[in-house]
Amino acid sequence: MLDALLAAVARHWGFRSLRPLQREAIEAVLAHRDSLVVLPTGGGKSLCYQAPAVVSDAVTVVVSPLISLMKDQVDALRASGIAAAALNSSLSPEEASDIEQELVAGRLRLLYCSPERLALPSFRRMLAQIDIRTIAIDEAHCISHWGHDFRPEYRLLSELRAAFPDASLHAFTATATKLVRDDIVASLKLRNAAVLVGDFDRPNLAYRVHYRQDVYGQVVDVLRRHNTGKPGGDAGIIYCIRRRDVDDMVLHLKSVGIDAMPYHAGMTPPSRKKTQDAFRAERCDLVVATVAFGMGIDRSNVRFVLHTGMPKSIEHYQQETGRAGRDGLEAECVLFYSGADAMLWRNLLEKSVGESETPVDPAYIRNVRRHIDDMENFCRPTRCRHRSLVEYFGQTFDKENCQACDVCLDGREPHAESQTIARKILSCVARLDQRYGAMYVVSVLRGESKDDIQRRRHDQLSTFGLLREHSVKELRGFIDQLLAQNVLVRETDETGDFPLLKLNERSWEVMRNERTVRLFAEEKRRKRRKRGLDLVEAAETASVPSKRSRAEIESWSGVDRDLFETLRSMRRGLAEEIGVAPFVVFSDACLRDLARRRPSTYEGLRRVYGIGESKLAQYGEAVWKTLDEHCRLHGLSRDIPPATSSDDDRFKVHDEPAPPKRRTRNPEVVKAFELFRAGKSLDDVVLETGRAYRTVTNYLAEYIQETQPPSVSAWVNDEIYRQVAVAAEREGRKYLKPIFVALDEKVSYDAIRIVLAHLAATGSEA
Ligand code: ADP
Repeated sequence: MLDALLAAVARHWGFRSLRPLQREAIEAVLAHRDSLVVLPTGGGKSLCYQAPAVVSDAVTVVVSPLISLMKDQVDALRASGIAAAALNSSLSPEEASDIEQELVAGRLRLLYCSPERLALPSFRRMLAQIDIRTIAIDEAHCISHWGHDFRPEYRLLSELRAAFPDASLHAFTATATKLVRDDIVASLKLRNAAVLVGDFDRPNLAYRVHYRQDVYGQVVDVLRRHNTGKPGGDAGIIYCIRRRDVDDMVLHLKSVGIDAMPYHAGMTPPSRKKTQDAFRAERCDLVVATVAFGMGIDRSNVRFVLHTGMPKSIEHYQQETGRAGRDGLEAECVLFYSGADAMLWRNLLEKSVGESETPVDPAYIRNVRRHIDDMENFCRPTRCRHRSLVEYFGQTFDKENCQACDVCLDGREPHAESQTIARKILSCVARLDQRYGAMYVVSVLRGESKDDIQRRRHDQLSTFGLLREHSVKELRGFIDQLLAQNVLVRETDETGDFPLLKLNERSWEVMRNERTVRLFAEEKRRKRRKRGLDLVEAAETASVPSKRSRAEIESWSGVDRDLFETLRSMRRGLAEEIGVAPFVVFSDACLRDLARRRPSTYEGLRRVYGIGESKLAQYGEAVWKTLDEHCRLHGLSRDIPPATSSDDDRFKVHDEPAPPKRRTRNPEVVKAFELFRAGKSLDDVVLETGRAYRTVTNYLAEYIQETQPPSVSAWVNDEIYRQVAVAAEREGRKYLKPIFVALDEKVSYDAIRIVLAHLAATGSEA
């Protein structure tokens, strides 16, 4: 059955392998065992129930919360040649009746519907006429009060078990907390469920968090970097906390020549729909929104998500940033925050508790406060963002350097005087008897001659003026960081209105030098060159190019950007013709693969990522013509072999005899060899040649084989070399994977490949 299924995946979707956990999830569906699958957004949940439906002889019912989501899924299935339909309130009675007839006649493989519809006795009676053996529940966290998206209508699903005793139930969500998971299993009454929780890291997302200083300027910097609003520019979403911030941002962007559409709950439903439809159809590439712009956003090629304020929990942040890069290609998530954001969320909580007509559960209040604190901690530049997120969701993160967050990419060093500064701040709080707030402590530390300081004789304290060389902002930032590291705490005064700084056990440990802390200096924004520049120019001069993430470098490697753009407009045309969203026709990942490999035959097209039989039959001709025309016009070579080997091949070492020496070496390889000769690191060579990591590693292996250098310590440290050599001795050198596993998956494949190449080149015996 699994073989038939894999063949169907290749035929309909054009995918050659399954992603992590897809196989297990699919096996659960095929075996009719209840399951709960937790995979991050973009992890490939839909394939887990769609592929089994294709090879099954019964209809699969899929519960989905929004009509727009159902539409995108059904469009995508049909585009892949799979009979699917959605029954929902947007249909006329005739249309609904047509679909019901198709269903009863056994012509549909998948039927999408809302939870409300599934609760209707008439609908259930109709389903009883057919054999329903599988029910998939998308966005299953909506059933839980603990989730961030509780939907009362999802509660109706608790009746499914009794109503369809013979069907297996399969819940899918991207929300990872244990509380929500347990709630889903209990509410849906899952039996002996296979609970599959995927890896929560999204390596294709580059996270950046910056202090908010001049939010308009900072936002425009990012948009310019993405070329948004210009031909070939990237699409993205800007999230604001309040509706009025949305409107102000849209106006501001317009004033600097960038078109954006707003979306918030204060707009009329038709105008909200207009924004959503335009974004889906790629008629608009930039939406400024509150979190109301949420679940229905299925567009897969969102290349950035910006937050102009801090979300109120890490769950929200994960969900909102999850809308970026669903196609697996690189995307950027930039958050601009200030200490005021957490304050705003805390005030909103107090206000809602104060205005509530019924008493609010103290556990709920504590829970919300904890979420705000956790989010605030996340914002501090003290730890790798990927690591923080993954660990927050209870998983471990093994990489030393994620190469995809501001902390790892920009390599910020802690302040050399961190410990001394921390001790001075804490002892000032102690001298002030822990009775003042952060701004007062800052004034005393800066030695400001204010009336209230003098009146209270705090200018006589030994800590008065101890940190006068630091700006208010800097000191404020240090205090925030101490709070984040929990070596200082904030508590409200007896009126409950004013936050005071308090010490805890850890503060005293720092003061006694028994605990070390790291503090980071405030980020500097480049000064504008002169006053009076118009905003556009100012934004351009202020724009600091951001270091590119590894995912970005790799996914653009070898892609002809002009051709990619040409293919994008071809896709828009096709999508308009058939009335579906462009990403339903082809994903960006597919277009980039086309623009990289540039096949000259139909057979070659079939090997491109995401092109299955059905897409080849429907769009093959249009794609081929566009490719051919563009390549002829621009003199581009065709049929370029993939730069990286396929997933299965990556575990193999090339043990066949070396190919005959090429007479003329590709100039890129020559350049890479020169850089290796100069002792440049792999990172540098990747940056300078613009090639993928794996390709550069292969170049290095070739270089090592040719030059047989006495040492490879420029690329692999000696200890790792030793470990790999020992493991290779035991496991053999034919495959990389056993060595990788023997080293607890801690040493990268690239490092293993380099060491093996060196062992082979220097003739060490296996
Ligand atoms: P989720 O529902 O988990 O957010 P999707 O089901 O929308 O994720 O899948 C995300 C993207 O990954 C889609 O573009 C999909 O086509 C692609 N995808 C899913 N499974 C595979 C696979 N096995 N190989 C390659 N691409 C895949």
